[in-house]
Amino acid sequence: MGQNISKIYFEKAKEVIPGGVNSPVRACKSVGCDPPFVKEAQGCYIYDEDGNFYIDYVCSWGPMILGHLHPHVVSAVEEALRQGTSFGAPTWREVELAERITQLVPSIEKVRLVNSGTEATMSAIRLARGFTGRKKIVKFDGCYHGHADSFLVKAGSGVATLGIPGSPGVPEEIVANTIAIPFNDLDALKAVFDKEAKEIAAVIVEPVPANMGVILPKEGYLETLRKWTKELDIVLIFDEVITGFRLGLGGAQEYFGVIPDLTCLGKIIGGGLPVGAYGGRRDIMDMIAPEGPVYQAGTLSGNPLATAAGIATLDVLMRPGTYEALEEKAQRLEEGLCSVAADLGITCATQRIGSMMTTFFGTSGPVTNFDDALSSNTEMYGAFFREMLEQNIWLAPSQFEAAFVSLAHDWEDIENTIASAYEAMRELV
Ligand code: PMP
Repeated sequence: MGQNISKIYFEKAKEVIPGGVNSPVRACKSVGCDPPFVKEAQGCYIYDEDGNFYIDYVCSWGPMILGHLHPHVVSAVEEALRQGTSFGAPTWREVELAERITQLVPSIEKVRLVNSGTEATMSAIRLARGFTGRKKIVKFDGCYHGHADSFLVKAGSGVATLGIPGSPGVPEEIVANTIAIPFNDLDALKAVFDKEAKEIAAVIVEPVPANMGVILPKEGYLETLRKWTKELDIVLIFDEVITGFRLGLGGAQEYFGVIPDLTCLGKIIGGGLPVGAYGGRRDIMDMIAPEGPVYQAGTLSGNPLATAAGIATLDVLMRPGTYEALEEKAQRLEEGLCSVAADLGITCATQRIGSMMTTFFGTSGPVTNFDDALSSNTEMYGAFFREMLEQNIWLAPSQFEAAFVSLAHDWEDIENTIASAYEAMRELV
């Protein structure tokens, strides 16, 4: 596997970009290698600048559920491109995407488009505070909701990968209003509610956390969270930036039949272009400017290229059999990884829901919260990552992330991946 051009680019990059990357985990630091620089991608394959190709399970961290350069998305974006890239005025595509989202996601009666998941969660929290007149928010250890100040408390994803407890630059006064408690622990939730429910504007949760690796909610957990927040007039926010349109057209809320007050979306609804969205109950959403007093805006929000890609992506996802196909392939991959590990006597736990999964090393699971996840063997994950890269399989460069299967992965790709995992794990023994 050649790596000269990537290495040269990375050295140059480090001179002009902090850490050489525009988002921390991309630097591959925690898995002990330098990042390949991507030249292009097609379907489920990624090609780097050194002429290597990989089967891609990062899928741009979730958005590429159809695979790269899906023809329907490409032609939609090309058509939009020819009409102009940004106007700062309303366009029909924004309405079309919003209509689709409101039709498909059970909790969303009205939706506002933004440019990233971070903007969506940040704005949803402001809205919940404006709506309730309360200041505090509850989040869960190991959940990641983007990089806005309020959320950088015991956060997952890159914050966990780099072992950063919070972040310098975030004023204490701001995080003093963020209460972080363990996921899947109703006693911890009850204790917080008993003490300070009247000050809590919102609970924000990834209904299936994926930023500490994939963790499943215990039976009844989300239902109880819903029941208690409703009783206490606390706004329940599902951060479905990953699970939205990943677990089905209605996301995790439809999957579990638990309907939050507000929902944050991103990734898939932009089909690989920059997008985020937050939406929910009409009475809450009507608090947003210009309808109401809670301010939130964006020069590029509802961008024509992003909305074109989003609509086209949802079009394809709405075809019959899509999620069944994703489920079958992901299930086979999970089985394959488990049986390879069992054959080689490697202790690990693969946790999966739909087309997202994480193999935690050094534990036989179940991994139910951040502490469990942190006690997994990240060195071993790093070694596995490097061996898989040698085998032309592109996994997330951190234990605390998910692997995503796309519609572009065919059976041969899945079987090749399982065979590669065998070779990679054999090196770990
Ligand atoms: N919420 C969740 C659940 C996420 O996984 C992410 C990003 N991985 C975000 C919010 C932030 O999204 P973005 O990176 O687009 O700002």
